[in-house]
Amino acid sequence: MPADPHRLVARENPGNLEDIAARWAKATIADASHAMEAAAHAFPQWSRCPIDRRIELLKEWLTVLAANKPHLAAVITRENGKTLAEAHAEVAAALADAQHTISEAQIRGVTENTSTRSHLRLEPIGVCLLITPWNFPFATIVRKLTPALLYGNAVVIKPSELTPASAVEIIQNLIGLGLPAGTVNLVLGDGNEVGPALVSHSGLRAISFTGSTRTGRMLAQLTTGRDVRLQLEMGGNNPLIVLEDADLDAAAAAAAIGGFSCAGQWCTGTGRVIVLKRIAETFTDQLVARAEKLRIGPGDDPSSDIGPVITGESQGFARHTVATAVASGARLRCGGAMPPGGYFFTPCVLDQVHAGMPVFAEELFVPILPVITAETAAEAVKLANIGQYGLSASVFSRDETKAMQCAASIEAGMIHINLHTAWRDPALPVSGWRDSGRGLPECGRFYRDFFTRPRAVYLP
Ligand code: ADP
Repeated sequence: MPADPHRLVARENPGNLEDIAARWAKATIADASHAMEAAAHAFPQWSRCPIDRRIELLKEWLTVLAANKPHLAAVITRENGKTLAEAHAEVAAALADAQHTISEAQIRGVTENTSTRSHLRLEPIGVCLLITPWNFPFATIVRKLTPALLYGNAVVIKPSELTPASAVEIIQNLIGLGLPAGTVNLVLGDGNEVGPALVSHSGLRAISFTGSTRTGRMLAQLTTGRDVRLQLEMGGNNPLIVLEDADLDAAAAAAAIGGFSCAGQWCTGTGRVIVLKRIAETFTDQLVARAEKLRIGPGDDPSSDIGPVITGESQGFARHTVATAVASGARLRCGGAMPPGGYFFTPCVLDQVHAGMPVFAEELFVPILPVITAETAAEAVKLANIGQYGLSASVFSRDETKAMQCAASIEAGMIHINLHTAWRDPALPVSGWRDSGRGLPECGRFYRDFFTRPRAVYLP
């Protein structure tokens, strides 16, 4: 059936506003319900498909994705704005997470034996809803979809309305592999409109979500009292602490990577820098020098180090945030310009920041790094724990033991010593504490538990 012309949407390329990155039709509430029904219908057949066969199909899919890497990276860049290098890194990271999930399933299997013939079997759970954001439009889907399917579940994917094309690519590459019809369903639509139809469906058994804390909390409320398990990866405002004996060049490089890669739109990126007073000036000068060297421009221009932010609204928010911080006493050290042609915002460093300022305490998700000073390591930790989040943190010091001691008191599910805050290993989870996460975390070994339900099988 042709789409209602009133529901057609055009998504502009944030790095070139004259280019349309994607045209698509918003799903209706009825479409969302049909997708859930289709998944519920497909589940029995898919869940009975032997796990070795499921793994085989997923490996074929990953091979196709790997072969299409340049095209996939171009699609990501065009609708998200990130540089082609960042988009390539996103595809590579997604494949690494998916391959780790498969290897782990092959090693651990879904049966755990006891000393008798009785044993534990991990069974599929049913229809899983994957709700994903725009900042990693490819990786967040691939890394959730792989374990959901591998462990025998049927899936409905609801990607961000800002990045539909990456999701379509993922699905197109699944077609033809022989999954039963309805095993994977894609709903492109406004979260507020189709979300309630998806979430209220009686067949829903799990939601794996990555997005804002506001939406995550709402999903938790909407599913209260129901047999729907939640895996919520939400906001963050990740601190990077620089102690007096740190390698300042390495710390400045890490702050610039964590703060400005993907134009500051990285859940585990660096939201604030806390530096010991004695070295603050030298460190901040080095950070500013690095920020000033970064070339901003369209993601598909190989000379760009940093692409645009996601929307004009986000760009306006960045400008307003800097103006408010400066009006309350922060000093603008560099950046904050808005070159024309796209939603550009040059990497910005603010110092003379105080803990009470929103620029320090709140998640920004734009390329602005506030630098705050502390008298002692203990005070630095106290500052790092300000706010509602607890996702990632870094500590820089030449003394690893001291850095570990400092990091141990930070309320964060991921800590890094002398590495930037977004550093990842596919074997370890993205573990949000406090208002950064709920339920079993994504990635690493927890997918197996999240996407299965244990059944104790007794035999004489
Ligand atoms: P962001 O502010 O980073 O875009 P959101 O939490 O708004 O984060 O969006 C993350 C994902 O959640 C997107 O796919 C969005 O469409 C979806 N979403 C937003 N509101 C709802 C809702 N009421 N129900 C279901 N999904 C939603």
